[in-house]
Amino acid sequence: KSYIIIGGGILGASAAYHLAKAGADVTIIDRNDPGQATDAAAGIVCPWLSQRRNKVWYRLAKGGAKYYPSIIGQLEADGETETGYKRVGAISLHTDVNKLHKMMERAEKRREDAPEIGELTLLTSEETRQRFPLLSEEFQAVHVSGAARVDGRAMRDALLNGAKKNGATLRQGDAGLLHEKNRVTGVQIADEVLRADGVIVTAGAWAKELFQPLGIDFLVTSQKAQILHLEIGGGETGEWPVVMPPNDQYLLAFPEGKVVAGATHENDVGFDHRVTAGGLYEVLQKATAVAPGIGDAAVVETRVGFRPFTPGFLPVFGPVPGLDDVWVANGLGASGLTVGPYLGSELAKLVMGETTELDPADYDVAGALG
Ligand code: FAD
Repeated sequence: KSYIIIGGGILGASAAYHLAKAGADVTIIDRNDPGQATDAAAGIVCPWLSQRRNKVWYRLAKGGAKYYPSIIGQLEADGETETGYKRVGAISLHTDVNKLHKMMERAEKRREDAPEIGELTLLTSEETRQRFPLLSEEFQAVHVSGAARVDGRAMRDALLNGAKKNGATLRQGDAGLLHEKNRVTGVQIADEVLRADGVIVTAGAWAKELFQPLGIDFLVTSQKAQILHLEIGGGETGEWPVVMPPNDQYLLAFPEGKVVAGATHENDVGFDHRVTAGGLYEVLQKATAVAPGIGDAAVVETRVGFRPFTPGFLPVFGPVPGLDDVWVANGLGASGLTVGPYLGSELAKLVMGETTELDPADYDVAGALG
């Protein structure tokens, strides 16, 4: 069967990879919007410490983290080794040791059905700073050995390359849906009309406008994030853990002195992809409070991305009600690097009529329609 996928972020790239590997004829169309979430994201995979109580979300996030070693192995078998993925562990910081004990308890409980969490260790402030030397002295930490980091850009490209190696075609352009009543008859890209047995929309924060001409009100909102890339001299940073401070920010490191600090959470600013003084100030102020050591780092770049959110902060995937042979997946919000490869694989199964691990009823697209 043939499928057209609109949107080549982590979700579309993963769906394309899995469908192409299963033998489908796949065309992916991506517009390269400035602010593609995947392109800006880098890249914490550590869902188990979240205090969010929504079980449906947690099941997806947990499944996403668990799927990583498998997808990395599949990509390696296809010759795609540049993903930036590494299980470097995470340190969750606090100044209050009681809070850390509570965190340990919660994580130990969750480990019962998520052994991939790995070892949980309470670190003294000295041990904490040994792991991530830029940190301020006042923090102790819980260390989670199973946590990982991944480079969103590299992971996306590995999935897209893997899809191409399995026969998929990647097109750059602005895709529109052509329709008659409840049937999408084709996909328009410039003057060309493409046809396929099915269409899959993984257009992130831009999906709303794609469905508008069909009279479908798809309720996705975007949240702007600014994230700062720094470079520190000397020191091998490739093994440094992800840092999760008590505030709403984080720090992580990649090889060769790359340190990433982020990110802002800016609602209701539309698709304004400028780096702003206020955004930079917020990131720097919060990051230096936790890690004064970054004061001496070189500023390399600031990336901007739009996190796509669907109602209730709950992702959706499945067929679009009222349309034949059109599927959508969206709403990955702040955890889409964690979840994207897994949900793309689940989506591919659903589209091919295979049994999924997740219950699609829990992530019903009807919940994202106005
Ligand atoms: P996107 O990556 O936004 O991709 C959508 C694509 O669709 C775009 O390329 C766009 O151009 C294309 N498109 C839209 N409309 C059309 C059209 N009509 N025709 C053609 N193409 C179209 N998650 C984590 O798990 N851990 C993290 O540490 C983390 N950090 C993040 C940091 C930042 C700064 C940001 C912004 C996000 C972060 N996330 C993180 C979240 C994660 O990046 C997103 O949830 C995820 O990338 C969303 O992927 P997506 O494929 O749904 O959308």
